[in-house]
Amino acid sequence: MKTVYFDNNATTKVAEEVLEEIKPLFCELYGNPSSMHTFGGQIGRRIRKAREQVARLLGCEPAEIIFTSGGTESDNAAIKGTLAAAPDRRKVITTRVEHPAVLTACRELANHGYTVVELVVDKEGRLDLADLEEKLDDDTALVTIMYANNETGVIFPVDKIAELVTGRGVVFHTDAVQAVGKIPLDLSKSNIDLLSLSGHKLHAPKGVGVLYVRKGTRLAPFMVGGHQEAGKRAGTENVPGIVGLGKACELAAENIEEENDRVKFLRDKLESTLLQKCPGSRLNGDKDNRLPNTTNISFEYIEGEAILLMLDKYGICASSGSACTSGSLEPSHVLRAMGVPFTAAHGSVRFSLSRYNTEQEVDYTIEKMPPIVDKLRRLSPFVSA
Ligand code: PLP
Repeated sequence: MKTVYFDNNATTKVAEEVLEEIKPLFCELYGNPSSMHTFGGQIGRRIRKAREQVARLLGCEPAEIIFTSGGTESDNAAIKGTLAAAPDRRKVITTRVEHPAVLTACRELANHGYTVVELVVDKEGRLDLADLEEKLDDDTALVTIMYANNETGVIFPVDKIAELVTGRGVVFHTDAVQAVGKIPLDLSKSNIDLLSLSGHKLHAPKGVGVLYVRKGTRLAPFMVGGHQEAGKRAGTENVPGIVGLGKACELAAENIEEENDRVKFLRDKLESTLLQKCPGSRLNGDKDNRLPNTTNISFEYIEGEAILLMLDKYGICASSGSACTSGSLEPSHVLRAMGVPFTAAHGSVRFSLSRYNTEQEVDYTIEKMPPIVDKLRRLSPFVSA
C-alpha cells in the first residue's frame, strides 16, 4: 500500500539532493573539522559552506549561525543561555500555545523563582500585542514567542513583537521551527535576537538544527568543552547533518514562493472539500494568516485518534496534535488555549503537506475521509446522547 504522508509538521522526507550531498561524508570524507591535516580541513570548508547556505535563507551573517542538535536544543539554549547572561532580570514572557520545548523549559523556570507569564490567544489562535506590551517591564529578561504554531499553522507577528521589545534590554527569541523553509523570512530586516530552527522539518536529516544569535546578543555558552561553534556550543560537529541542513536551506531558498503556491493550492483543496463534505467539521486557527501547508480541522463528537487509525488503514498519515503530545489522552493544549470546545478539540486532525505531495493524494484522502467520519459519528455516544 502506498503511503500518503500528510504529517510534515512532525517530520519530513530527506530531499534526494540532500542525501546525495551527505553520502560521501560517512565513509570517504569522515575527517574531524578541527584536525590540522588537509583531510580534516576539507570538512571544515563544507561546514563553512553550510553556514553560508543557512545564513542566505535567513538573511543573516554566517557568524550568527550556531549549529545544534535540533529545535529542542536551540529553544532550551536560547532560554537558559539568555537568563544565565542576565542574572538581574527574573521575568520571562511566552505564550500558552508554544511547543513543549519552550513551554516546559519556561514552566521549569517558575520552580526556580522566575516569574513566567504565558500570554493567552483568542479563539483563532491570535495574540494581543497590547497584552504583551502591558506585561513588559524592567524585570523582563526574555520574550519567547513562536513564529508559527505547529498544530494550527497560525503565524505570529514576530517582527512587530521584536520592534516592541527592542530598546528595553529584553532579548526576543522566536521558535521558528515550523516557519523556516515554509515561508520567506529575512532577519536583516528584523530585530529578532534569537531564532531556532530544526533540520528535519525542512527535508534535512533529524538531529541537526540552528540557533541564530544576532551579533551583540548576550548569550551564555550552552555546551562547554572544545572551541566549536565560536565556543557557544562545544562538541564535534554533526557533519552530515550540518552539510545536509545547508543543502536543504539552499533548496528551500530556491523554490519557496513557487512551492508555497502549489502546496497552498493542495492544502486549500483538501481543507475546503473536507469542510464541505463532512458535516460537523470546523477549521481551527486563523484562516487568513497561516502556514501554507497546514490545516487543522475538528470533527465534532468523534475522536481524532479513531480517525487517524482508520486513515492509517488506507496508508494516510496525519496527526491529532503535535507528535510529542500524541499518545496522551489530553486534548491539545493549543486548541484548549484557543477555547475550542472539548468535544471538538478531541476530534481534531492536523494535515501538514510538503512539496512532495500530489493532487492525487489529496483526491484519495478526500474520497476516504467522509465515510470514516460518518461511520465514527454513528458510533459516537455523544451524538446519540
Ligand atoms: N518547536 C516546534 C514549533 C516544533 O514543531 C518542534 C517539533 O515538532 C520543535 C520545536 C522541536 O524540534 P526538534 O524535533 O528538532 O527537537
